[in-house]
Amino acid sequence: MKKFAIAASVVLMAMPSVTRAAEYLNGIEWKPPAIITPGKTNAGAPSDAIILFNGTNLDGWKNGENWTVKDGIAYSGKGKITTLESFGDCQLHIEWKAPEPAKGSGQGRGNSGVFLMDRYEIQVLDSYENETYHDGQAGAIYKQTPPAVNAMRPPSEWNTYDIFWTAPRFDEEGKLVSPAYITAMHNGVLILNHFELKGDTPFNRPPAYNPHPPTGPISLQDHGNPVGFRNIWIRPFQAATGEQVRDPFLRNGAKETPIK
Ligand code: MG
Repeated sequence: MKKFAIAASVVLMAMPSVTRAAEYLNGIEWKPPAIITPGKTNAGAPSDAIILFNGTNLDGWKNGENWTVKDGIAYSGKGKITTLESFGDCQLHIEWKAPEPAKGSGQGRGNSGVFLMDRYEIQVLDSYENETYHDGQAGAIYKQTPPAVNAMRPPSEWNTYDIFWTAPRFDEEGKLVSPAYITAMHNGVLILNHFELKGDTPFNRPPAYNPHPPTGPISLQDHGNPVGFRNIWIRPFQAATGEQVRDPFLRNGAKETPIK
């Protein structure tokens, strides 16, 4: 306990002029994710994808008018943008590029974020040669887990996120039935594998689940840094369905028996 108290007081002493709500600290000392160099990645949207941004406009987003679209790239502007459409389980592809030249440090360099259901953040940050707390670096589920590795490209290059999202389920009383899970690739590299979220991802309190509808919008964060985005597409996901219409084949050459 004493250790935690000391750590907290050091942080407070280091931030004497902080006026916002106190920062939530989860107390985990993460090992630094290994830094790796990703291979080439392919960006083509499959035929059944819903295109959320194709380089021309942000008409499908609330507050899109306060961001800038230039040369096929959407740059984060004033306030977050939020899709008009809502999604539950999904596959989301998004490409992003940190401002160049790199400016600022830690959480102040190339910070944005992809929020699933407008409340669960996978961090967007320039984590190329930029130290910050590991559960706040690019690919982290903010304040819950770092990415397994740091697959960040330098600011002059595009990054891709491929996110596989399982929405949390709540019952009619709003009780959590099953948590959210995320699998994610950063530049084609697996960084989160079926990670179970502990709840939402705020700055100033521990994660918590608060009941919400089964679908919600995707939002992209404005953190004061002009991060570029392109090629954003999504596929609502439903697992294959089928009906058992006959017995599974039996061994020893026995004939199948129709059920219906
Ligand atoms: Mg962020």
